[in-house]
Amino acid sequence: MGHAVMTHTQNQPTVIHLNRLPRTTQDAYEYLMDKADQAADRLDLHAYAERHNEAIQLLGICPPDGGELARCTCTNCYCEAVFDAAKARTHMNGTVEFVQCETCADEHRLTGDE
Ligand SMILES: [Zn+2]
Ligand SMILES: [Zn+2]
Repeated sequence: MGHAVMTHTQNQPTVIHLNRLPRTTQDAYEYLMDKADQAADRLDLHAYAERHNEAIQLLGICPPDGGELARCTCTNCYCEAVFDAAKARTHMNGTVEFVQCETCADEHRLTGDE
């Protein structure tokens, strides 16, 4: 019996910038996230997790511990970062929730009161 070997590399990125990906990949990601949102709306958490897992595979991003991705919707720089949802900083602007990635939150934190 051989000993266990990690077959996948550990150099997967923890942040992916959507705007640097091919258009078709961006579209596929949007499609999966739409499906995930629809699953969340009908409280189908299994389907929600599946769609996020597919998005993780699609992007080749390092799988977050919680298995959930967030997308930076920062209106200050439009960085289009996709990252671990556990690291998201959110704020409400009116009734709309905005998400900032760690970089944006550090560099230009928004609170919705601007
Ligand atoms: Zn950002
Ligand atoms: Zn930003």
